Amino acid sequence: MHADSCRYTYELDDAFFADIEAPEIRKGRLRAVLEVRKGIEVYRLSFHIEGTVVVPCDRCLDDLELAVDTDDRLTVRLGAAFSDEDDQVVVPEEEGFINVAWYLYEFIELSLPMQHVHPDGECNPAMMEALRSHLSVEACEADGEEDAGDGEDTDGMPGATDPRWDALKKILNNNNK
Ligand SMILES: [Zn+2]
Repeated sequence: MHADSCRYTYELDDAFFADIEAPEIRKGRLRAVLEVRKGIEVYRLSFHIEGTVVVPCDRCLDDLELAVDTDDRLTVRLGAAFSDEDDQVVVPEEEGFINVAWYLYEFIELSLPMQHVHPDGECNPAMMEALRSHLSVEACEADGEEDAGDGEDTDGMPGATDPRWDALKKILNNNNK
């Protein structure tokens, strides 16, 4: 280890994600190691975060566990006002500290793949069935009675709307009476 450095270890669990009110990540179990190296008027922070998080699956909405293994860096200086651009953070001199919790969360979230889905065939079948029946009910309710041929909207009325939406509006209006 570098002579002028400190090392901190954080255990991140479900409470961490609850505290930070994580918008996307429901739960997790990770270890974060932060090494702080002091330079001339600058602190270099190196993060290594490893573990697993739980997010909703994009397809079946059930819990999906994802592995996390990410290395990130921040350069922190003292200055007049807080700023945060790319990996350069300025901390107001009078505060003199940086709350790393939000950065830990950001690094974890940024390391996740764009799509969160179970491998094919591993989605929760009960959830999929519930979603499917919900969607098909909606499709039935929105189906207009008159079927004037595919996309042939010949009445030419200005502001004519999609008949499926009209049917939906009817349902909504009836419910309001
Ligand atoms: Zn799934």
